Amino acid sequence: MTTIRRCPDCGVTMEEMEMRTDDGFKLYLVTNEPKPGFLGGLGVKEKVKTLVAVCPECGLIRHYADQ
Ligand SMILES: [Zn+2]
Repeated sequence: MTTIRRCPDCGVTMEEMEMRTDDGFKLYLVTNEPKPGFLGGLGVKEKVKTLVAVCPECGLIRHYADQ
């Protein structure tokens, strides 16, 4: 299922892109929820992937938590 996201300023369809660091690592959110299982017991927090939408008109970038 693809969600159409529109720029709040321009009203045009935003393009989904991937945001990476210079080293090629993907960005992700770290939640306040402990990771399930053993690592959570060690204090490791759960990670959530992000979805990036970019407006081709004005360049606005929006980050969404990929649920
Ligand atoms: Zn825009």
